[in-house]
Amino acid sequence: MTASFRPARRIGDLGVSEILAITARAGALKREGRPIIILGTGEPDFDTPDHIKTAAIAAIRKGETKYTNLDGSPEMKRAIRDKFARENGLTFAQNEVTAGAGAKQMLYNAMMASLNDGDEVIIPTPCWTSYFDIVQIAGGVPVAVPCPGADGFRLTARALEAAITPRTKWLMLNSPSNPTGAAYGAEHYRPLLEVLRRHPHVWLMVDDIYEHIVYDDFRFVTPLALDPSLKDRCLTINGVSKAYAMTGWRLGYAGGPAALIAGMAVVQSQATSCPSSVTQAASIAALDGPQEFLRERRASFARRCDIVVDALNAIDGIHCRRPEGAFYTFASCEGMIGRVTPEGATLTSDRDFCAWLLDRADVAVVPGSAFGLSPYFRISYATSEAELTEALARITRACATLRGPDRIYSE
Ligand code: PLP
Repeated sequence: MTASFRPARRIGDLGVSEILAITARAGALKREGRPIIILGTGEPDFDTPDHIKTAAIAAIRKGETKYTNLDGSPEMKRAIRDKFARENGLTFAQNEVTAGAGAKQMLYNAMMASLNDGDEVIIPTPCWTSYFDIVQIAGGVPVAVPCPGADGFRLTARALEAAITPRTKWLMLNSPSNPTGAAYGAEHYRPLLEVLRRHPHVWLMVDDIYEHIVYDDFRFVTPLALDPSLKDRCLTINGVSKAYAMTGWRLGYAGGPAALIAGMAVVQSQATSCPSSVTQAASIAALDGPQEFLRERRASFARRCDIVVDALNAIDGIHCRRPEGAFYTFASCEGMIGRVTPEGATLTSDRDFCAWLLDRADVAVVPGSAFGLSPYFRISYATSEAELTEALARITRACATLRGPDRIYSE
């Protein structure tokens, strides 16, 4: 008799993310022939630019197909250091930068390298759910700090101060944010940095992966540039996935104190070793190469953002804040809770609402519960304007079929 599989305690009850589960269900319906539009996935629909592909092909032809230095070739690290200096005003030495298979691996390496059982990590919520799971796998305790829509989904100094304990190891910040699209300007970061200065045992992890996707006159800034005194306890994470439409290539990088960077390399050495040599060649071309096309892509994302925000706000019972960046809207569906579908079911949660939209409108969106705040739903608008327009028309038509009780949106 074979023993049934029992997961290790560090995995506990973690499953694959709700986002992947919804996307998989939507994909299955699509294969059955339903005209499903999926607004669930967090990746740009643009293609990787040609000059990046060409660099990868050249690397293959030159035989750059072997292991490289563990956490990035010298040339990769040079390109990362140049990027941090050029775009962020941050100066790092060669042993203060690292590269791995995605920003996700940077987060994972950092947590595995730094957390002991019971160490707390403050996570402003709603957030990208991997933060919770990675902290948990690494033996830490995720501490969710609610950041309501009324605060622009941003962490306040008061809430941060209240969440810090002697066990706090890290504060994680992500701007622009997945799932809300909210971003921190200098004026939002400064009060938080002041709190951190008063608590020298708290480290700061910054996830800048959506740095290049910002709108209107919002000016992106990274916290370490505002307060260089945090340099010995700040890890700045970034990657090529979102800016350069390179989600499948898998390259993330980080800058931080040499001892932490060395610890992260130890973790990586027993997990994936070096990032792909070909991907490194492509990523060097991405970081060193022309950046002008980012402006066009930003403009395209901004138009799509308008389509979604305007359409959502025209629906009775839905309220959507205009995001400063990333490619997500995080709209309240509070006004939909309690409404009754034509089939006679009452919508009791954002999960119900999203499941019903998939069934009724053939549109897949992700409930706020997946990110730690309800009743909301996230739309990823990294898809064509035509598809977005059609999806929003379907959502609008479906919502018009719901019957009372009439609720007024409040926040
Ligand atoms: N950080 C945030 C906030 C994200 O939304 C994502 C991807 O969705 C990542 C990091 C991971 O990026 P990568 O593809 O570089 O692992």
